[in-house]
Amino acid sequence: MKLYLKDKSNIVVVGGGPAGSFFSHFALRLAKEHSRKVDITILDGRDFIQKGPVGCNMCAGVLSETLTNKMECEGIVLPKTRVQQEIDGYYLQTQERGIPLHHPKSGHKPKIITVFRGNGPRFSELTTNISFDDFLLKHVASRGAKVLPAIVEEIDLPKDPQDLVNIVYKEADVRKKMSTDLVVGAFGLNTSLIKRIVGKEFGYREPESVRTCNAELHLGRSYIQEHFNKTIYVFALGIKPIKFAAFIPKGDYVTVSLVGKEDITKAHLIEFMKHPKV
Ligand SMILES: Cc1cc2nc3c(=O)[nH]c(=O)nc-3n(C[C@H](O)[C@H](O)[C@H](O)COP(=O)(O)OP(=O)(O)OC[C@H]3O[C@@H](n4cnc5c(N)ncnc54)[C@H](O)[C@@H]3O)c2cc1C
Repeated sequence: MKLYLKDKSNIVVVGGGPAGSFFSHFALRLAKEHSRKVDITILDGRDFIQKGPVGCNMCAGVLSETLTNKMECEGIVLPKTRVQQEIDGYYLQTQERGIPLHHPKSGHKPKIITVFRGNGPRFSELTTNISFDDFLLKHVASRGAKVLPAIVEEIDLPKDPQDLVNIVYKEADVRKKMSTDLVVGAFGLNTSLIKRIVGKEFGYREPESVRTCNAELHLGRSYIQEHFNKTIYVFALGIKPIKFAAFIPKGDYVTVSLVGKEDITKAHLIEFMKHPKV
């Protein structure tokens, strides 16, 4: 059965990370192109203006040239205040040797940039708002989406798909309900909501995942400019179970990001940091 969103439909987006914000951006644009009005409400309990892990959907924070170009085409231009470092290229370090990797076209200025997803490391002294996720949410809010600081607890689909979806959510410790024409799950992987909706009629299956490890190192701007400049260092050193690790320069800090075949722990991070090549 094909379902269509009628004029004045409501859409609830669960999760205000990049998936939730980009969905909202495109849904609002398409609705406008079809002369339809849709009301979009994004629910997310995370406050991206907070410093440290609490305000952050952790990742390495590298925006590829493809992504920055697509964002610009959509009129989403990241202000300089939210950019931590422009990147010229990568340096791949293996056990045996290191190889600088640059764009093959000479004279090409890469548009790779680094950002903090939240408002920077916990002990950062910056007072300006630098969060990428907050920037995207403010962008879609400026296009008409409503952003609510709330955590979704239940999603109940109706028997008849023409009927409304019911949602239970918690806002400022108060449990509330709302009904909507369409619900969009943009809640990522780090959420207890997954356990509650697996096995329900959506057909949603929990994806396989492994735990990664991110850390912020305060090395100071001048040290970083001297030793990293505009380069991301990627290490493939054969330390099991680490697949690769990276140092990503961001202002006063360097983000260390470790990805593995199995769960990565703090002990792996320490082992990596002690490797002579590192
Ligand atoms: C180690 C690592 C490094 C990475 N590095 C990069 C990189 O350099 N560049 C890059 O482009 N990508 C990178 N990624 C991938 C990137 O992090 C993801 O693609 C991106 O975060 C996915 O966005 P999302 O919106 O789907 O999910 P998320 O970013 O996880 O956002 C989900 C949101 O949903 C909210 N939420 C969850 N449950 C609920 C609920 N019940 N109610 C309301 N809200 C809820 C959460 O608070 C969160 O804000 C990396 C990932 C990892 C793990």
